[in-house]
Amino acid sequence: MAPRRPLIAGNWKMNGLKASAGEIGRLRQGIEAQRLGYSADIMICPPSTLIGLFAEAARGTPLLIGAQDCHVQPSGAFTGDLSAPMLADAGATAVILGHSERRSNHGERDQDVREKAASAHAAGLLAIICVGETAGQRRLGLTLAVIARQLRGSLPDSAMAANTVIAYEPVWAIGTGLTPSAADIAEVHGFIRGELGQLKGHFVAQGIRILYGGSVSAKNAAELLTIADVDGGLVGGASLKADDFLAIVSAGAAKAHEAG
Ligand code: PEP
Repeated sequence: MAPRRPLIAGNWKMNGLKASAGEIGRLRQGIEAQRLGYSADIMICPPSTLIGLFAEAARGTPLLIGAQDCHVQPSGAFTGDLSAPMLADAGATAVILGHSERRSNHGERDQDVREKAASAHAAGLLAIICVGETAGQRRLGLTLAVIARQLRGSLPDSAMAANTVIAYEPVWAIGTGLTPSAADIAEVHGFIRGELGQLKGHFVAQGIRILYGGSVSAKNAAELLTIADVDGGLVGGASLKADDFLAIVSAGAAKAHEAG
């Protein structure tokens, strides 16, 4: 089976104004100069207000643009919401779904994530589905049970290797500078691969990329990205500056060379 192509995705969250397009320009230059797009998929998920601008700035380069959420319905009376076809129309090719900040701040349940993912697939978007335990759940030894529940609840029938990515993001590691040990990450990623096998069959499970997210930085990326079954990273804070993000992308590209 062909090695999985690493994906390094940056989640800008609610950060960035039109002036931030300069960061995309720097990213473009770095990707081209270091020929990083040959060996890894590289994506920035800005706030929705910047998707069109960034998609235009990234046109003709390997840089992909994603969104951070979508509504379940393709259109209708949902004031303030954005649908998957709208995001695709603006230039996004992917959408992050079920991020822990959406789950906790907006009460999103697994069922909501599953319906959103199905809607993203119908619009031709790659769904990056986030799962992860809280610090309390980890302390109670519930990590694998929580991940199993979230995976089973959040994955729609339409999920395949080509349209779905799983991001393992321990909630306690997001924005804290803390990361699980390499052994803990390997255990959870291996577990996710096994669960995907049960849900989707071995062949599909082998093709689905599983990203690690939670305080990935230019300093720790090389170590985190070489862990078994880690197929890339979902990067928050460190994706906001082109230089930091490029260093992480380089680590992802180096992993691809080792696997190839
Ligand atoms: C995230 O929110 O998806 C994330 C991983 O954030 P950070 O890298 O800042 O921990």
